[in-house]
Amino acid sequence: MHEMGLMEEALQMVSEDAEKHGLETIDKVSLIVGDLSNVLPDALRFAFDAFCKTGEIPRIGERAQLEIIRERGLARCALCGKEYEPSEYLALCPECDMPFGVIQSGETFKIESYEGS
Ligand SMILES: [Zn+2]
Repeated sequence: MHEMGLMEEALQMVSEDAEKHGLETIDKVSLIVGDLSNVLPDALRFAFDAFCKTGEIPRIGERAQLEIIRERGLARCALCGKEYEPSEYLALCPECDMPFGVIQSGETFKIESYEGS
């Protein structure tokens, strides 16, 4: 489950940034997770809860909340220009049945924002 590592990295970054801004506790972390990012939201939540309980990352405690903002997967066919939602990374264009879709969005995994006090 690579989400554990991703979450740890994200929370470390948030924690360090919060320290710089003099915050003692993280209340909420918002992440953008693309449908094509190979990151499973359920696994992220599981990892987040685990870190909140153990308290092993400074400033991330049991009160912290996780918000996951989904980014829709979108591809544009390089042949016919059709835009479609690929169901997997190399989905076929529904118009011409060719695997020439160029991913437009949905690969993002990043920290959108966080709140602390
Ligand atoms: Zn096409």
